[in-house]
Amino acid sequence: AHLDRIAAVDGAVHAFLHVSADDALATAADVDARRAAGEQLHPLAGVPIAVKDVVVTKGLPTTAGSRILEGWVPPYDATLVERIKAAGLPILGKTNMDEFAMGSSTEHSAFGDTHNPWDLDRIPGGSGGGSAAAVAAYEAPLAIGTDTGGSIRQPAAVTGTVGTKPTYGGVSRYGLIAMASSLDQAGPVTRTVLDAALLHALIGGHDPRDSTSLPDPLPDVVGAARLGASGDLTGVRLGVVRELGGDGYQPGVRARFEESLEVLQAAGAEVVEVSCPNFQYALAAYYLIMPSEASSNLAKFDGMRFGLRVEPADGPVTAERVMAATRGRGFGDEVKRRVILGTYALSAGYYDAYYGSAQKVRTLVQRDFAAAFEQADVLVSPTAPTTAFRLGEKLDDPMAMYLNDVATIPANLAGVPGISVPNGLDGGLPTGFQVLAPAKADDRLYRVGAALE
Ligand code: GLN
Repeated sequence: AHLDRIAAVDGAVHAFLHVSADDALATAADVDARRAAGEQLHPLAGVPIAVKDVVVTKGLPTTAGSRILEGWVPPYDATLVERIKAAGLPILGKTNMDEFAMGSSTEHSAFGDTHNPWDLDRIPGGSGGGSAAAVAAYEAPLAIGTDTGGSIRQPAAVTGTVGTKPTYGGVSRYGLIAMASSLDQAGPVTRTVLDAALLHALIGGHDPRDSTSLPDPLPDVVGAARLGASGDLTGVRLGVVRELGGDGYQPGVRARFEESLEVLQAAGAEVVEVSCPNFQYALAAYYLIMPSEASSNLAKFDGMRFGLRVEPADGPVTAERVMAATRGRGFGDEVKRRVILGTYALSAGYYDAYYGSAQKVRTLVQRDFAAAFEQADVLVSPTAPTTAFRLGEKLDDPMAMYLNDVATIPANLAGVPGISVPNGLDGGLPTGFQVLAPAKADDRLYRVGAALE
């Protein structure tokens, strides 16, 4: 049914870069046979899933939205893909994204735009717009995204889906094409909070192949989602972050947020206002740290190891000239912009002023979170400052594009988990409600999120 739906609507939505129909049908048939034979299977066995194209999949093309990886077929699976396969979820295909996950609209994909199913002239968010659009358009019931600075939560907000960024280290990064290694985290995109919890529990937990993977067991996210669905939040303290609201937030987005606070209060939650004064510098710090790490991570795309190789049109074919020609042709403008920013910020003479200062701000943001979590069990805010904007509207203005991430980025800098849940419409377009919790307390996201559903 989902493959039929993809065939019917993906021409207009363009959520997928690659559809793996044969593999998906083979997995589904295998699960049916095992279930008929009485085997006890995972609760999500047989439920199809779409995977963001930044996650490597054995035998399925993986491009990260970039020309430089066109034609590359990975020889191995990411840990999270291994877990999905072992549980018997048919993989429907790979979803569109901003090139190397750099962007907030999916317009930086080298393979064309994804359209928001709510209004095809609008962006589906980014960088994981393909995963969110696939779920919103009923092409897939579940999807995987990655969130370095909001790329799961912001697309979820503008497409009316649920998206979770787990605690840093909670889901293995083995087999993710790295953007900024100290910020990247994979997580679920779904239509319900319980679905997100089930998928989170499946892909989460320790992996010895990722040196930053947490040794702790995952908290009981599924139990927390069920508890929240009962609608009782007695004693839960919600901290409204003063700095994540107000100016720059669309009035309707703010209104929906206030209404939801009342719903949660009626469920027994207590609302307190908290202040995180250093969040105002988080965006600036992120846009130094992220390009710095990305410029280093992307150095491996040299025209020799993966995908595209371009030889210089004339002159000698030296390693350096092949690299320059390949990277010149293979990377898009946004990737080049960030490689230049990152190498500049890391260069001798500027390192302390830029990268060093940004790391200090990162520590201050972490301290703000620690202080706020003394006063509240979770922090809440709108997920994104606006509803989905029109395709093309911010493409020539990188600063306007970056400003979309004000509310999502602090969580990445601190490594804390966050969820976006659908929060009603403004002008016919979805808005999102964000819940942030202390590191390793991902269960709280699901309790509060489910109470809002
Ligand atoms: N909008 C952010 C950026 O462009 C999102 C990154 C992400 O989470 N992958 O960097």
